[in-house]
Amino acid sequence: MATQDDNLLKKVISHAKEYGFVFPSSEIYDGLSAVYDYGQNGVELKNNIKEYWWKFMTQTQENIVGLDSAIFMHPTIWKASGHVDAFNDPMVDNKDSKKRYRADVLVEDAIGKLEDKIEKEVEKAAKRFGETFDANMFKSTNGRVVEYQKKIDEANMRLKNAMTNGNMDEMRQLIVDLEVADPISGTRNWTEVRQFNLMFSTEMGSVAEDTNKIYLRPETAQGIFVNFLNVQKTGRMKIPFGIAQIGKAFRNEIVARQFIFRMREFEQMEMQFFVKPGEEMQWYEFWKAKRMKWHQTLGLGSENYRYHDHLNLAHYANAACDIQFNFPMGFKELEGIHSRTDFDLKSHEKFSGKKLQYFDSETNQNYVPYVVETSVGLDRMFLSVLSSAYKEEKLAAAEGKEEGNERVVLTIPPALAPNKVAILPLMKKDGLPEKALAILNDFKHDFRCYYEDKDTIGRRYRRMDAIGTPFCVTVDHQTLQDDTVTVRDRDTMKQERISIQNLKSQIQDAVSMANLLKKI
Ligand code: ATP
Repeated sequence: MATQDDNLLKKVISHAKEYGFVFPSSEIYDGLSAVYDYGQNGVELKNNIKEYWWKFMTQTQENIVGLDSAIFMHPTIWKASGHVDAFNDPMVDNKDSKKRYRADVLVEDAIGKLEDKIEKEVEKAAKRFGETFDANMFKSTNGRVVEYQKKIDEANMRLKNAMTNGNMDEMRQLIVDLEVADPISGTRNWTEVRQFNLMFSTEMGSVAEDTNKIYLRPETAQGIFVNFLNVQKTGRMKIPFGIAQIGKAFRNEIVARQFIFRMREFEQMEMQFFVKPGEEMQWYEFWKAKRMKWHQTLGLGSENYRYHDHLNLAHYANAACDIQFNFPMGFKELEGIHSRTDFDLKSHEKFSGKKLQYFDSETNQNYVPYVVETSVGLDRMFLSVLSSAYKEEKLAAAEGKEEGNERVVLTIPPALAPNKVAILPLMKKDGLPEKALAILNDFKHDFRCYYEDKDTIGRRYRRMDAIGTPFCVTVDHQTLQDDTVTVRDRDTMKQERISIQNLKSQIQDAVSMANLLKKI
């Protein structure tokens, strides 16, 4: 049964295609699973999200610098990082629906359902008992809730052990014990659980020569670790400092059914922050808070974000959490913040035989720094912006005279919008297009403008709403007389007459990336 949210995701996907944001890859050949192309508006939005991240990291943080490392790297790097041996997901198939799932996700979803049951019991009781209700007391004494909690704790523990020990029989047993049914067939007819390595590999060198198996990087982080000393020395960086990188990553995901949420080729924005051993927890807390502030400053609604602590820590981490976003599919991971200890640098020291240490001139000591990582998916950021910006609105009678009384508007934060302003001559005659083009030529060096002179002005407004253009400037006959134009605000649809002289600075102020960054 389709839920409201499934409908929203479907609408966002078709809107994204219709208005040039996201196209399925290789569409004329029927597409390529979990790979997407960004269209003329999508690439602008994506670049603006990158700019928001990049400038925040490398411009407003005085101790962070950038890097652009290659996608191909020496194959031993992926041995050292643990990816060759451990970058696996457990997969399981339902024999009836023939659908494939990640076994750990099935278990986590089942645990999530038990948690929902507890929440429902608490809500019911809160209503029954009124003001005197003590939720904690209720949770620790109510028989049904205690039973659910016991099941949750046991399942979490078994999941953790199965993942840590790579025990796939236990993983399958857990699915059976939790009575997980396939959402499509409704049956519990599962295959064995198998481990599946997510890295894509290819060969470097011609076939005749000695070929070398190399991998498409599954994360950008390793490019930062292996350049740690290069950057530290040439940039004369003092600990604590960070290295930021935006780039493509590739994972042969088992299940890739959620549009650009889970892709096989995607982009990451990662920052590795190098700190003194023992200070990592304080920096972990610092980056948790900073990254949340960065997200919330966009104005997509603070209630749409939450932290989710990891119970199953990766082999390299001593603390980890996600920032989850309320996507159309529910709250899911948008960004990961991980305290990676000295695992990566130490491991690269071991495999390369080179020292990767920092000389602390204050204490006269060498040490391998600890690392706190922030890692956010650019495509997931894109989806968070697009899905929360998508709105279908009913309009008051006067608003929708010509074009019906509904509109679809993307309330994209102005600094991220693909076009900042549309410049529209009211009619395609009487010198109005020339006047409009003169404004465009003056503005185009400062921000991205859109020009259109076909169709009724109302239809043109609707098209600009649908791609999230914050302002429409209309040039009419009065403009020719007194150099004033009307400016229509995308969100309120209010129009205001202002002089061309003040126009640029007013728009600039509203769409400025610098103003957004200042609020963080
Ligand atoms: P998930 O649990 O959803 O598979 P992950 O924990 O494996 O994600 P990380 O390895 O922490 O993800 O990667 C950091 C970030 O990269 C994620 O928070 C996410 O935003 C993004 N990301 C990871 N895998 C994908 C993917 N297949 N498609 C798009 N973005 C991804």
